[in-house]
Amino acid sequence: MNRKVRVRFAPSPTGGLHLGGVRTVLFNYLFAKQNGGDFIVRIEDTDQGRFVTGAEEYIFNTLKWCGLEPDESPIHGGPFAPYRQSERKAGYRRYAEQLVKEGYAYYAFDTPADLDAMRIQFKSAENPSPQYNQNIREKMKNSLTLNAADVSKLLAEHVPHVVRIKMPLNETVSFTDMIRGEVSFHTSQVDDKVLLKADGMPTYHLAVVVDDYLMKISHAFRGEEWLPSAPVHVLLWKYLGWEADMPQWAHLPLILKPDGNGKLSKRDGDRLGFPVFAMNWTDPATHETTTGFKEKGFLPEAFVNLLAMLGWNDGTDREIFSLPELIEKFSMERVHKGGAKFDYEKAKWYNHEWIRKLGVKSLEFGVRSEFEKAGIQITDGVLLGKVIGLVKDRCTLLPDFVQQGAFFFQSPGSIDIDAVKPKWDDDRNMFFTELIRAYALSTLWETHDLEKEFKELAAANQLKPGDLMLPFRIMLVGGKFGPGVFDIAAIIGKEETIQRIKHTLQLLQL
Ligand code: GLU
Repeated sequence: MNRKVRVRFAPSPTGGLHLGGVRTVLFNYLFAKQNGGDFIVRIEDTDQGRFVTGAEEYIFNTLKWCGLEPDESPIHGGPFAPYRQSERKAGYRRYAEQLVKEGYAYYAFDTPADLDAMRIQFKSAENPSPQYNQNIREKMKNSLTLNAADVSKLLAEHVPHVVRIKMPLNETVSFTDMIRGEVSFHTSQVDDKVLLKADGMPTYHLAVVVDDYLMKISHAFRGEEWLPSAPVHVLLWKYLGWEADMPQWAHLPLILKPDGNGKLSKRDGDRLGFPVFAMNWTDPATHETTTGFKEKGFLPEAFVNLLAMLGWNDGTDREIFSLPELIEKFSMERVHKGGAKFDYEKAKWYNHEWIRKLGVKSLEFGVRSEFEKAGIQITDGVLLGKVIGLVKDRCTLLPDFVQQGAFFFQSPGSIDIDAVKPKWDDDRNMFFTELIRAYALSTLWETHDLEKEFKELAAANQLKPGDLMLPFRIMLVGGKFGPGVFDIAAIIGKEETIQRIKHTLQLLQL
């Protein structure tokens, strides 16, 4: 059967988007685009208790920043709207009822107190957190243990109840995962998950299957943390009579802490000082802001590239890929089963490589806003372009442009006079005094001419240009950094160069 490729990213809007979530988006997107398919974003907001205002908007902003725009979504629209599960609420109950009618699910009337009592009663050393499963359901208040008349009465009286899947006894549920191959679960290991809640909302388990079916999803890619839920979903596909349409699954490897010990969490980022979320996220309850990769100064090209390499490679040593190149090269079969360790130094390396690779024009917008954030307004776009070209090889994150280039737009805030003083003497003082005179008369103001004049003057004074270069740099930029000194002088211009030399000479006299 030649099925149109339709993939979905199905986030629950509960907060900032972890880099693992963006990688799931990316792999979905790459697969869809490679196969001429559709990439759908469906908002899974059936758990109203976990709903967080602003989280959905944040998700779409993040996708926009990364350049991973969906073909269908609540904001892009599409033929299978609505794409928010809360807006599809009315449609789910009939599937839950169908499952009950056919004996694949049952009504459960247990109150929260009943469930607490069950957990205490059946708790043992071997079973520290008892689940509502095929052993325990026999002892609870549900349509399997009550007689039909009592069940009808309870339903008629609208006694709060849920619908649970009835895990079959002693069966093996298997499916083929595109990354892991054949995966099997024994039904005794899986509990009777709730499908429909007392408030009439479906749980994730029912909604994900119903919507993947109705939205004609051909491939479902999601994080490895969903693997334990897969047998429930596979059974639901079968029980609802849709087995032939079931998507092909791929459970993507976890992104691990830098030391490889467990899943990378937001807390690890806070502790180790690196971002974990794609963009800044402000928790609406606590007003606490968590810094994202974007605000830290990552380029979207680098972010997408580094995410692709967390768990995938093209079979060679190549590490730098643009989005179109990833679309061409990506294959789910080359995604590793094992978790991928996150290495922040390596992440920064990707950004550095992308800063080097991109042209001045592509960097301009991001760099300009970094300068503005630092309080430096850029009025001269040509100058900005020149500065970017000169310093980009020295920058790893976008704010580095400010550190490496602010002195092009304003006099240095401070001069590292201590780096000049120990070797300062009359000869040097004389040299720079003469340099001011020479430069003032200069009619040519290009890198090459400035360097020539400087060196000729040094030779005439029997001084080594190497000994004069560091003081000159410090005069112009304030410290021991920056690109070539004559390039700097050429760009800042005659007046400013002379002014900065004079200023440092005055400081040295104090
Ligand atoms: N709503 C689930 C989540 O928040 C989606 C899991 C899936 O893709 O099936 O990640």
